[in-house]
Amino acid sequence: MLAENTDIDLVYFQRDQYISSSLVRQGYFPCSPLLHKSVISTRTLELYHHIFVRCPRLSIQPFVRALCDLHGIRFRNHLCVQFSEAYDAFRAVKTSILSSIKTVLGRDSPDWRSLNACPACQYPMAGESELEFEMLAAMDGNDSLKRVERREASGDASTPGRVKERYDPRVGGRDYFLDPKEVDEWDIKNWRNQEGWKEPAPQLSKTGAEKGCEDRWENMKKSHTEADRGIFDETGIFVATCRHMFVLWALDMIKSGEQRKYALAFLHRFLSAIKEERANLGLRLPGKKAFGYDIGCQLQTTLDTSPLQPLAEEENARMVTGSLHGHAHNRLCQLKFLLSYINGCGLEDLEVLERLFSLSNALAMAIRHASKFHRRQMISSWFYHHDNFEAYANLSKFIYNNYRQALTILEAKDSVISRMRAIGVLDGKEIFGWLDEEKEYLESRREEPEEDLNRMDLYVKQVKLNECRARLEAAHSAFIAYNPSDYPANVKRTNAVEQTMRHEQEKEEKLMSEVHFLERRLELKEPWTEDSEEWKKAKEMFKNHSYRKAVNRLEGLIVARIFELSKMHMAGTGMRQHLGKALKTRSKAIQEAVRTYNTAAAKLSPPREALSYDEVVEKAYVSELDFLKDTDSNIHEKIWAVPANRVLMTEYFKLFRASEELDRLHVEIHRLLTYMKEEQEYLWAVELNISENNPQLAYQVSLYRWERGRFNDLHRLRLRNIISLPGFDDTNRRFFRAGVGLKCQSQGEDERADDNMGEEMDVDRVNGEDDSDSEGEEGDIQAEAQVTAVLGVAVD
Ligand SMILES: [Zn+2]
Ligand SMILES: [Zn+2]
Repeated sequence: MLAENTDIDLVYFQRDQYISSSLVRQGYFPCSPLLHKSVISTRTLELYHHIFVRCPRLSIQPFVRALCDLHGIRFRNHLCVQFSEAYDAFRAVKTSILSSIKTVLGRDSPDWRSLNACPACQYPMAGESELEFEMLAAMDGNDSLKRVERREASGDASTPGRVKERYDPRVGGRDYFLDPKEVDEWDIKNWRNQEGWKEPAPQLSKTGAEKGCEDRWENMKKSHTEADRGIFDETGIFVATCRHMFVLWALDMIKSGEQRKYALAFLHRFLSAIKEERANLGLRLPGKKAFGYDIGCQLQTTLDTSPLQPLAEEENARMVTGSLHGHAHNRLCQLKFLLSYINGCGLEDLEVLERLFSLSNALAMAIRHASKFHRRQMISSWFYHHDNFEAYANLSKFIYNNYRQALTILEAKDSVISRMRAIGVLDGKEIFGWLDEEKEYLESRREEPEEDLNRMDLYVKQVKLNECRARLEAAHSAFIAYNPSDYPANVKRTNAVEQTMRHEQEKEEKLMSEVHFLERRLELKEPWTEDSEEWKKAKEMFKNHSYRKAVNRLEGLIVARIFELSKMHMAGTGMRQHLGKALKTRSKAIQEAVRTYNTAAAKLSPPREALSYDEVVEKAYVSELDFLKDTDSNIHEKIWAVPANRVLMTEYFKLFRASEELDRLHVEIHRLLTYMKEEQEYLWAVELNISENNPQLAYQVSLYRWERGRFNDLHRLRLRNIISLPGFDDTNRRFFRAGVGLKCQSQGEDERADDNMGEEMDVDRVNGEDDSDSEGEEGDIQAEAQVTAVLGVAVD
């Protein structure tokens, strides 16, 4: 596996220009380009690669140590360097093979991969039913995959040393990563360079995102990115995937937190490519696309004012918030952006990135001190493997599980309808009406009018002024009553008494001028007294205001808690400990906030019920806290605010979403079956076509075909199992067969499948016998091809 100073019989030496190419033909990769003293066998490199993408925690060093143990030699550091060099050469060959395959398949455009990542989302069919949203995608940033910038040691701990990164012209992972220059074009300060863009008037957002959301998320994310910027070059990664977890694009976050430019750059690249593809293929008008993001509400506002707005509008793209993160947004924002309330989103939660990151975080240790190129190489290798061997393998499982979940939810249909009837709701439309009423109500009390704020301010200042005057009077009396002879000679209190009086006088003057200012602003004819009606009204208003402030504080803390809990699963990044500590501190703060809330609630008339810590933490639904903010008591009499009805409303929407989910799954099943058939046919045809002139490449195409092809029988089996699920409607059997894909590639009319082929690929036809036959045949062809060309198209 690892050979040093061995005499290798260079059979092909005469044919090759370089010794390196001869070595590769023999099945060895050299560790240096010109002088060859050590080589690593291709099988060893291949083995390491497959183990690494399955278990990214295994870096080169422990693997090389294991090889040393096998060879009975002592480990030395330079062996790691040699292995790494050979591995780079091996990966370069693999990348070049893949690009040759893509060229022969006509898939070599830079956007092809992102436009064809997922068969269920991106393989439209002729005559399929149109969905409300043609695509559901998600995007998010993650700071686990950061890389330490190499610097010289500096004498002073506060200033970092000079950067000493080695120049490396190689750029890894081009297929997955957007160029940082392209990303920077979407930085807000570069917007004006975009053609035809005019600075919009402030507050132009059509959808009106809520104020509070932004501060909540940004503050929390900032807290652990500020310090990172000095140490790390890449501070993390921003990824977009479809709902089935196929990666669309990845972006490096460079010396910054999770800024909007990353989301905008992705949207620009992706939407432009879709637009171009549609024009090329002559496909139908753009369908709607939903992009889930932690702060989808805020991103929508940014998008509406950015140079990207016309393209986003043309492509029908809208932002939404994922279900888990959505619960941390306020209620009004939820009604506009939460997936559960958006028609056409089905049961999707769009929290897919949280799941992807919990897997990709295993790369963190390996890449933290890697070079820029190696970091990208490792991440993109892992993405490629994940897309083809995990996301694709699990696609039918995803569909099966969602189908079963939707059918289970729909079982409750009769019970929900009878409960709706019991409260007099005969039509589901009424429940949609509740949402509108709720939205209207929340919008009406969004902000306290400025005049009310001024009145409360005046009340507070007046109270302070009165207190100050009382203290001044006391100080004055003390000064007059002061007699130095009452005290021993060594105790001089004159100065202290005088000072207190002077301080209170200064405070009184300041407060007086503030009160006069507010009186003028409110255009009061005469000053308020404690008995006046105005005073009493302002006092009441202030009590309510303090109460609402207490609820807001509580809400903010609970949001922070949800955020931290959601990140708790980040194993292997050292985050767990940090979060555990943060949660402990947070608990104390919540207890304090609950106390403040209870004090404010008791002062209301009539007083509100006190909350307990457990109640607050268990609730964890910020939307429910939103109702506490209301001090107008009749809100709870509204039909949509009754707790039992709110539960019913949630259940009703779940039913609604479940039937939408089934519609989407039918489209996905139809697409997957068609894709499997057409893709295999096309790859077979190409393979046959080139096998005579270029058998090496034909063999590589067969390996490429088998990457996804190995899962197809499993897919058919799982999809067939859906038909036997309890509650399955037999009329939907029509979706369980292949149709005609609009993106289908073909090798001329002769090889194009005729209609009968559709029947052949029908899931009903899948059985054990067929399985073994096809696999046996496949195995023979592979073995034969392997003999004729081992790594045949390796480029010198
Ligand atoms: Zn929001
Ligand atoms: Zn998908």
